[in-house]
Amino acid sequence: MDCIFCQIAAGEIPSDIAYQDEEVLAFRDIKPQAPVHILVIPKKHIPSLDQLKEDELPLIAHMIAIANKLAKKEGVAQKGYRLAINCGQEGGQLVPHLHLHLLGGRRLSDTLG
Ligand code: 5GP
Ligand code: ZN
Repeated sequence: MDCIFCQIAAGEIPSDIAYQDEEVLAFRDIKPQAPVHILVIPKKHIPSLDQLKEDELPLIAHMIAIANKLAKKEGVAQKGYRLAINCGQEGGQLVPHLHLHLLGGRRLSDTLG
């Protein structure tokens, strides 16, 4: 599979792993936009939110739960953080494998777009 995040999930491309279990992997973004910038991905290839199936919704809940735990572990939970999922070209999605951004550790922009 020619997908960079599938290769990271398979351990074929090294990454700075923050958490993993059978379903998800969390690793530090290579070009961090905040002191804490972690990507939470499903290990299974799902191209985008747009292609998420009804029975895959619990996976999103799991990804959010992991991001919340990591926010605490990384020490940003109290001051605040942002979870974001970009979807499609105009949504700013560059890597076509579903991923949740956890951003924190600085005052984030008031605007989302
Ligand atoms: P998107 O714009 O698709 O929502 O976000 C993709 C993110 O993946 C970007 O923040 C980018 O820096 C990150 N990224 C792209 N390639 C790699 C990589 O090979 N390793 C890591 N750790 N992050 C990557
Ligand atoms: Zn993939």
